[in-house]
Amino acid sequence: MKDNSIYTLQAGEKLNKAKFLEYFEKKVRKTIRTNNLIGKKDKILVACSGGKDSTTVLYLLNKITKENKQINVEAIHIDPSIGTYSEINKKNLIRFCKEQKIKLHLSSFREEFSYSLCYIKSLLQKKGIKWKSCTICGILRRYILNKKAKQLKATKLVTGHNLDDEAQNIIMNIFQNHVEILPRLGPITGLKEQKGFIPRIKPLYFCTEEETRLYSKLNNFPVKYEKCPCREEAYRKEIADMLNQFEKHHKATKTGIIQSFLKILPTLKKADKGKASICKKCKEPSSGNICNTCKIVELLKSS
Ligand code: SF4
Repeated sequence: MKDNSIYTLQAGEKLNKAKFLEYFEKKVRKTIRTNNLIGKKDKILVACSGGKDSTTVLYLLNKITKENKQINVEAIHIDPSIGTYSEINKKNLIRFCKEQKIKLHLSSFREEFSYSLCYIKSLLQKKGIKWKSCTICGILRRYILNKKAKQLKATKLVTGHNLDDEAQNIIMNIFQNHVEILPRLGPITGLKEQKGFIPRIKPLYFCTEEETRLYSKLNNFPVKYEKCPCREEAYRKEIADMLNQFEKHHKATKTGIIQSFLKILPTLKKADKGKASICKKCKEPSSGNICNTCKIVELLKSS
């Protein structure tokens, strides 16, 4: 891309490359500052898939926190072993972390559960469990991330969720009548007071998908822009398409959803009766006596 290109933001504002990069970084800094996402002595662990969102957030956090020597930023990659797709992402991330001098921790489904995501899915299917790849992937990845974060003594776990992801999450949970999930959304995710749960923060909370993609491309980050071949989130895609369609005709629809949600979030958190417990088997945070990861592991053992 040429340096003299002009980029149009969703609000209609036109910026050149330098101004766009400045605008994006300022937005991330403001999100961190106004939501108190990072404290002076935090040890930050960034969950990186090797995609554009997590690579962007890793790059920016590393850059921002270099200004404060007490804050430590490291990265973690959980490999679900989805063939060449995963291999390329991992290779790209290793290269990126080497260039940026960021310590990278590697883990994988194979290492933790002995099998790849696709194999786990097929074993569960044989047991009559018809969970989608993304559901299984999400459950297992969250489990490994929290466990590793504690082992590495991280105080905050960073994810690359952007404004589009969050607007989709809010609408999906409302449409599906899963309002009990809503208090767990926001720039800081999860029940902070839950024992053993490492708070998750989303510095790209106010950055759109399009802006994040542009930031990543303008910086020439070594990332693949194709979607994961196992992606099975048909409902999410319908919601994303609907919101994109709305956004086309009614500017700032997604931002409106986020801003409205943030106004009611404190009330939702106060009223939240969601039980925070610990899994009896693995001692990781769980909403029931036994967490979903342990349930999956049990099923795999009996296969
Ligand atoms: S798209 Fe779904 S299956 Fe693929 S890495 Fe993401 S959560 Fe896992």
